[in-house]
Amino acid sequence: ARTSYVARNPKSLECFRRAEESLPGGGTRSSIFIHPFPLFISKGEGTSLLDVDGHEYLDFVSDFTSGIYGKTNKVLRDAIVTALDNGIQLGAHTPFESRLASLIRHRFPSMELLRFANSGTEANLLAITTALKFTGRTKVMVFEGGYHGSLLSHFEVKKDQLVEAELVEEDRKNEVNVLTVPFDYLVAPYNDLAATKSLIQANATSIGAIIIEPMLGAGGCIPGDATFLRGLRQLATDVGAVFILDEVQTARLGFGGRQKTLGITPDLCTIGKFFGGGFAFGAFGGKLEIMQMFDSRRPGAVSHGGTFNNSPCTMVAGATALEQILTEPALEALNSIGDDMRDSINAAFKSLSAPYIVTGLGSINQLHCTLPGKLKTAGLDLVFFRLLERGYWIAQRGLISLNFAMSQSDVDGFVTAVIKVVREMQDLVM
Ligand code: PMP
Repeated sequence: ARTSYVARNPKSLECFRRAEESLPGGGTRSSIFIHPFPLFISKGEGTSLLDVDGHEYLDFVSDFTSGIYGKTNKVLRDAIVTALDNGIQLGAHTPFESRLASLIRHRFPSMELLRFANSGTEANLLAITTALKFTGRTKVMVFEGGYHGSLLSHFEVKKDQLVEAELVEEDRKNEVNVLTVPFDYLVAPYNDLAATKSLIQANATSIGAIIIEPMLGAGGCIPGDATFLRGLRQLATDVGAVFILDEVQTARLGFGGRQKTLGITPDLCTIGKFFGGGFAFGAFGGKLEIMQMFDSRRPGAVSHGGTFNNSPCTMVAGATALEQILTEPALEALNSIGDDMRDSINAAFKSLSAPYIVTGLGSINQLHCTLPGKLKTAGLDLVFFRLLERGYWIAQRGLISLNFAMSQSDVDGFVTAVIKVVREMQDLVM
């Protein structure tokens, strides 16, 4: 499959050769790299991507969940063009800034006050440092397999400590070498309340922040167990640590994110991706008593700058998206399509006794190969390359994420293609 990929994509290879002259590995975003070289895209429309060799793909990555609006969207386009005509960057406050903030606060009551940033990574860095400053403590609890941004990855997990060991792609994960801001970390096992509790109790007076994704995203779409997440919320309160929910991905799983579904109120919450209407975005917010330390009128206020924090185009695009596209019924419909898709694929895998499983929630899912060792990565690669040949684009690591530009028949076609690819492989082996 990989050989035919190389043969099918000479122009992408040519672009790659040119790119690697200036960029290490030919790019500036490790998460979208494809082994042996990535496809280069010339255009996107609706949910389709057109590559430089002329192949068209239905996009089931949706930019790792941030591309929820599809590649093109008339409502967003019109709002952005109007905003551009009123000044690309104004270097001043505009009414759009508070409009977007108020729309977000309405959905996430836990964010009594919030601040904007330029990425999910930045929002999480700000949330963690805010929590440490607020508590005057030094330790940050994170979880195995957690990902909070390019400088906050916790993939270097020990195999024997993994809770859902059989579901995590250890091979590829163990290859991942990450840059991590050197906070004083305590790394706890995800979904293991008893072990996490002991770790918290042993560090009760020094933990300032506990940060967690309500579903491991880049760590393999492993949903956080409700009892675990609620228990963790309580433990944070018990020891006086700031509980931070990273909803950068999961915010799209419901109108008020996963926190609303689970009835959990974090002390701080971070979001990003799609809330910028397609532009670079991040936000962190939470309890008034914490967030008001950023109030510039207060003596000793904490300074938080950022040239593009309130970029008018981002503010307008985000507000327009929240008002007109990211509505409650639209989110419910998309997530329900995702749940049905996962169930259909898993039912077929089961009846085929295929060594694959899809995990996830709603519109965010991950294909896993359950074969041992290196076969795991090989098994995933096979499905990935075979799907590309059929015109379906998933992430090489297995992420499958839906967007609003897809139709039910696009998803049905995808389900059929996944099952067909896996069945053909079974036939080949037998
Ligand atoms: N947190 C989570 C849970 C994420 O999935 C991501 C991005 N995939 C981030 C933080 C970082 O966001 P960004 O890429 O915008 O920095």
